[in-house]
Amino acid sequence: MLDIPSTARSPQQMFGSIAKTYWAEKMGIPRENLVVVSIMPCLAKKYECAREEFQVNGDPDVNYSISTRELASLIKRANIDFLRLADEEFDRPLGESTGAGVIFGASGGVMEAALRTAYELYTGKKLDKVEFEAVRGLQHIKKATIDLNGTKLNVGIAHGLGNARKLLEEIRAGKSEFHAIEIMACPGGCIGGGGQPLHRGDSSLLKARSEALYREDAEKPLRKSHENPDIIKLYEEFLGKPMSEKAHHLLHTHYFCKK
Ligand code: SF4
Repeated sequence: MLDIPSTARSPQQMFGSIAKTYWAEKMGIPRENLVVVSIMPCLAKKYECAREEFQVNGDPDVNYSISTRELASLIKRANIDFLRLADEEFDRPLGESTGAGVIFGASGGVMEAALRTAYELYTGKKLDKVEFEAVRGLQHIKKATIDLNGTKLNVGIAHGLGNARKLLEEIRAGKSEFHAIEIMACPGGCIGGGGQPLHRGDSSLLKARSEALYREDAEKPLRKSHENPDIIKLYEEFLGKPMSEKAHHLLHTHYFCKK
């Protein structure tokens, strides 16, 4: 058995484990009666749902993962005129989202979301300009030094597996000294994911999707993950504090591979 060190769960699996514990408890629904369905940009998430690491007594944290392309096809098949539906709020609890969550879909977006929070937690100061332009864009590999009130943080970002290999080889050869890196397997990040409407390598489509995410982020009243009232409540009521034993258990995993 190959044992891989503890790591953060993917967003899909974080949400699944919280839905089947905190949310289930709040709604008074036993875990085994809950069916969790996620809508993802990614085909690999279907396989992820079946991994033993993400099950409790054989019950998966996420029961079904459908892709955005599949969802679009279901909407068409059901003859739903999506554009004419009235907008609605998401259900609560756990219905609030921030701009930091929105930009996760673009290469550099996870890093930018982390930097918005890291800046404020590390410096104790309010971050007024939340846009970190240096980590945005569709360049294959991005490198930036971020100033955290005098402390320099070196970050590296790659999207697409060939570019990821280049970045990792640079690190292995000792040519780059990053404090943090972000790797996205798909071109452009999740906006180019295998479950998304097909882009057939058209970079103008990826650019348009990425711009749409940053536009939505800019319009959100909340743009930093740690300011999300639902997340604050989740920690207060259930997880305790970041890296508590419960948070570690539900938000991290320990991958293993059976040979
Ligand atoms: S980058 Fe691609 S493989 Fe990775 S989570 Fe997004 S869609 Fe899935």
